[in-house]
Amino acid sequence: MIKSFQIGAKTYTVELEKNEQRYKDKKDDLLGRAMSPLGKIVVWNEWDGGKMPNDQIEQTIFHEMVHTILNEMNRFNLSEDEEFVQTFSLLLHQAIRTAK
Ligand SMILES: [Zn+2]
Repeated sequence: MIKSFQIGAKTYTVELEKNEQRYKDKKDDLLGRAMSPLGKIVVWNEWDGGKMPNDQIEQTIFHEMVHTILNEMNRFNLSEDEEFVQTFSLLLHQAIRTAK
């Protein structure tokens, strides 16, 4: 599993946590958060007491990673476009997973 990655000069750490009610209430499909100013992303590895599958965790890491890239590029409009971020990150994840 990815533990950290670098975007430009900044190193981001990846933290896996159980989901918390306060975040869960905010948005039903929220599986992680990008905290660009703190240089970290947080991804839930447990959801309603069930373990999140590794593939799902990895896809969420890619999703949050795309947010951090777009934030770093100051492309906040794109970063706030969840449909763009989700589709782009799923395809990027597939491309990297199937790369030979
Ligand atoms: Zn998102």
